[in-house]
Amino acid sequence: MKKITSVCPYCGAGCKLKLVVEKNKIVRAEAAEGVTNQNQLCLKGYYGWDFLNDTRLLTPRLTQPMIRYQKGGKLEPVSWDEAIRYTAERLSDIKAKYGPRAIMTTGSSRGTGNETNYVMQKFARGVLNTNNVDCCARVCHGPSVAGLQQTLGNGAMSNSISDIENSKCLLIFGYNCADSHPIVARRVIKAKQNGTRVIVCDPRKIETARIADRHLQINNGCNMALVNAFIYTLLEENLYNSDYVAQYTEGLDALRDTVSDYAPENVEDITGVTAKQIREAMRIYAAAPSATVMWGMGVTQFGQAVDVVKGLSTLALLTGNLGREHVGVGPVRGQNNVQGACDMGVIPNQFPGYQDVVDPQVREKFARAWGVDPALMDDQVGVRITEVPHLALEGKVKAYYIMGEDPLQTEADLGLVRKGFEALDFVVVQDIFMTKTAEAADVLLPATSWGEHGGVFTCADRGFQRFEKAIEPQGNVKRDWEIISLLATAMGYPMHYRDNQQIWDEMRELCPLFFGVTWEKMGDMGHVQWPCPTLDHPGTPWLYEGNRFDTPSGKGQLFAAKWRKPAEVPDADYPLVLCTVREVGHYSCRSMTGNCAALQTLADEPGFVQINPQDAERLGVTDRQLVWVSSRRGKVISRADVSERINQGAVYMTYQWWIGACNELTQDNLDPVSKTPETKYCAVKLEAIADQ
Ligand code: SF4
Repeated sequence: MKKITSVCPYCGAGCKLKLVVEKNKIVRAEAAEGVTNQNQLCLKGYYGWDFLNDTRLLTPRLTQPMIRYQKGGKLEPVSWDEAIRYTAERLSDIKAKYGPRAIMTTGSSRGTGNETNYVMQKFARGVLNTNNVDCCARVCHGPSVAGLQQTLGNGAMSNSISDIENSKCLLIFGYNCADSHPIVARRVIKAKQNGTRVIVCDPRKIETARIADRHLQINNGCNMALVNAFIYTLLEENLYNSDYVAQYTEGLDALRDTVSDYAPENVEDITGVTAKQIREAMRIYAAAPSATVMWGMGVTQFGQAVDVVKGLSTLALLTGNLGREHVGVGPVRGQNNVQGACDMGVIPNQFPGYQDVVDPQVREKFARAWGVDPALMDDQVGVRITEVPHLALEGKVKAYYIMGEDPLQTEADLGLVRKGFEALDFVVVQDIFMTKTAEAADVLLPATSWGEHGGVFTCADRGFQRFEKAIEPQGNVKRDWEIISLLATAMGYPMHYRDNQQIWDEMRELCPLFFGVTWEKMGDMGHVQWPCPTLDHPGTPWLYEGNRFDTPSGKGQLFAAKWRKPAEVPDADYPLVLCTVREVGHYSCRSMTGNCAALQTLADEPGFVQINPQDAERLGVTDRQLVWVSSRRGKVISRADVSERINQGAVYMTYQWWIGACNELTQDNLDPVSKTPETKYCAVKLEAIADQ
């Protein structure tokens, strides 16, 4: 029996654990002393490993390369040589016929690690010559990255998970940490026990609302109006830090002007909370000696998400809650390595280390390092994954190489996504399970899983952490970066890496932000937070020391915007708001947690639709009754979960279920900047199913 140190492959909390291995099987997981988790795990950390033992509960593990030679034909097992030859030939043909931008690729925010993401974007940019590479950040915290880069300079948490409990005020906005990051929720509880004032803005009575000093039970879809009213209050009541604002920020006059119509008394109807509640919340926030804003998908999955992120960072700027310990802004990233996927440049606008693709000097640097003609490098921002269905239907994207993502389960308006897939000429899926997307592939490339390889993840607070291989893989599978390298070589760009460390060293040589994060330093310290620019640098627990921001002027950018209604509001036909949410026992598309026996037993139904008792009574729906949920785009079956915690007029569903996936109902109103869909808001109706 041996114990292998790893990092949990689920959420961005980055919990360290030990996998106990016997005869090449995982027998249990134990909590380890990680910086973020302090010897604690949630149930996914403790029980989320047994898909590695191939329990085959939900979907089969992919163990063999397969090709579907004819559209509509069957997937046939083939050798790796044939899979690589065929894929390389088809991608080369499409590139030659339609150009590099006709091919879309993805990195993965899951268990594959940073090195693979680096290699994937190198393949896209250096071999295919396109910036069409993206990841699931697009459908979650893409707005946090875009918004914070504009106002503060870095699209990441400014603070550390371990420092949350030291803040004297937590403003928690659209973020249900108890379900999405249970170990971060522990920090919130510890903060409360230390006397921290907790303000929660959320339409539901989520767990955190139970311990909050103030719960603003807001209307769905009001975020920008509420943030404007917060800013208005800070300015009108002189609660803001005028010295700090004068010295370290820009845009105060425009800010005053924009929020002038948003007196709390003017927005009670929009927000659903009283002016008194709004004003009191800001008085608490501004008076605290240290304050932190935390947010999640309840901010980012809206058509006006980037504006709200910029507004939330403005609250921190107005009150001087940046540039020191115990304060800051915390977009708590969802998947375990979504921060890392962005760090490694699997985003269409930036190379690894957040270096712009439109900067000729940056392009030249990467091209020279990779031995690629700089003239071949794409000089335009690439396609985002949420644009693929539209561009496929327009005939502009022809091939899609998807690694460790499941867009046919996780993206908004699945009917549209399916039509887009049908219009594609060629779909390659590199994954570990037969996901919904894998079922639609022309080529399946089976990869090793977390547990079967080592690497580096970045957790939500910018901390790089190494994880180790625990078991030998079963089946005819290969490492993700090895598969990509074989494809690159077959397409005429020889790519040969010895191991992860060689890839890592190549990456950090090209990224000033990460240069000092050596393999050995991660081994010694376990958690090294970027920026870490030099070999003797210890890493950066909090950003913006000296209140110097990484914006062009070095100043924080104050921002507000007029509130826009969500794209599809309830009406007589579809009178309820549907909001997508998370469920604590499962993760993302459920391909991993759904194949874990212990987690599966927690909830084995096709999901629940949470509804308020008054709405349920009006509709003749009782608790646990089967119901139809319909929108203008689809209809799914679900089971009613009647609860006082739910606000009237709205219902809530997870996207983790194969039957009754709520993304059949959602719509893809995209934020104009980040292109993130509005999966937190669309109009639906609910009907009881009588005969059960
Ligand atoms: Fe920690 Fe998140 Fe894993 Fe739970 S799911 S153990 S909170 S990393």
